[in-house]
Amino acid sequence: MSAPVYLDYAATTPVDPRVAEVMSQYLTFDGIFANPASRSHMLGWQAEQTVESARRQVADLIAADPREIVWTSGATEADNLALTGFMRANRARGRHLVTSIIEHKAVVDTARALEDEGFEVTWLTPARDGRINPAQLREAMRDDTVLVSLMAVNNELGVIHDLAALAEVTHATGAAFHVDAAQAVGRLSLDVGRLGIDLMSFSAHKAYGPKGIGALYVRRSPDIRLEALIHGGGHERGMRSGTLPTHQIAGMGQAFAIAAAEGDADQARVAALRDRLLEGLSDIDGIHHNTAIDVAVPNILNLAFDGVEGESLLMALRDIALSTGSACNSASVEPSYVLKGIGLPRALALASLRFSFGRFTTEADITRTLDALRYALNGLRRRAV
Ligand SMILES: *Cc1c(COP(=O)(O)O)cnc(C)c1O
Repeated sequence: MSAPVYLDYAATTPVDPRVAEVMSQYLTFDGIFANPASRSHMLGWQAEQTVESARRQVADLIAADPREIVWTSGATEADNLALTGFMRANRARGRHLVTSIIEHKAVVDTARALEDEGFEVTWLTPARDGRINPAQLREAMRDDTVLVSLMAVNNELGVIHDLAALAEVTHATGAAFHVDAAQAVGRLSLDVGRLGIDLMSFSAHKAYGPKGIGALYVRRSPDIRLEALIHGGGHERGMRSGTLPTHQIAGMGQAFAIAAAEGDADQARVAALRDRLLEGLSDIDGIHHNTAIDVAVPNILNLAFDGVEGESLLMALRDIALSTGSACNSASVEPSYVLKGIGLPRALALASLRFSFGRFTTEADITRTLDALRYALNGLRRRAV
């Protein structure tokens, strides 16, 4: 049996071999393994230099200053630091936060925890295409709104937000704008100055880097204040303590440098593969596009299939690694809160699959997926009537 076709790049990407090669230089005794905070010897300085050059690679991708990059353990921690750190540091100015119901759990659950702490949250509901309208955000803004948090690219739908327009509305009342850009690296151009972003979260493993490392962009001018969540040696200018993982950081830097150089070419290739999949499905009835293709990245395609259950379809597609977005509790399967959030009926939400493509997806993968889908849909739908 051949290995499954991997179409779950939005869940995680494999580490690019060029990134793995760089990482291997910062682990063993003959590599640069020292603590980057060790100031008393040359080995420490070399590690520090490695960290700082990776910081520049990440900053370059978003046209920021390296001093605006804070290393974290991933986008989850970056989201926590952005929301909780900002709300706590600015509580004297206001206690109101605006976000949406289809953000990643790292934002949704952090905002809920802030509600428990006494902050107020307005939860925006997106349009059917998954987008938040700037006019809708304007209505939600209050005198005491200090922060707006909206994602660049939704991880289940692939839909892209109009960040520049949303930033403008946010800034009109003096609030700060946080963007979760975990799904946007190498997919969109992310010039923080031009877009007007104050805080932006990143993860390496969604962009061919290693798991367990990420970063938060924190604007310096005007100065964005955060309260630290993790206390210790005062690393990262006091915003996030903990010994820096040189190998992870070097890997993330390399991954982001490759994303800057090759992101457009990757996306063009992936768009052709996505179109090929859509073309191959065009003569099958009862397929709905949950992804509004005109306003989405080409590497994520969410489709609903009439007359089948998502879990049965997934079972029938064992050879294709895909995601449903549904959550399995012990008693029942709950549809994805994102698909519910855009108003999809429960049955369709349960019969939805997310196809996500990437750097190593081939035409043969698409052909195998089409064959498997046809076979599975035929079988399941015949059984259903
Ligand atoms: C994957 C993801 C995260 C979480 O990132 P980790 O680095 O795995 O913590 C947050 N937000 C979005 C949009 C994501 O896709």
